[in-house]
Amino acid sequence: MAAVEADLGACQGYANCVVGADRYFDIDDDGVVVLLRTEVADEDRRRVEEAVRSCPVSALRVTGA
Ligand code: SF4
Repeated sequence: MAAVEADLGACQGYANCVVGADRYFDIDDDGVVVLLRTEVADEDRRRVEEAVRSCPVSALRVTGA
């Protein structure tokens, strides 16, 4: 199963990822992304990959098959 990772130091809190996939991403009180889950279900993969691509600072990535 694919997994999603976040570079918390790179995140600038733009929240594009939350808009794209709110079951996977949230923003904490400091404006940093929070991963609500790390394993990406097959049926969610396309949506999550689009959310990852929408990050303006490339702080997210999907790994695995
Ligand atoms: S889109 Fe990128 S910069 Fe914005 S909250 Fe998500 S991870 Fe952070």
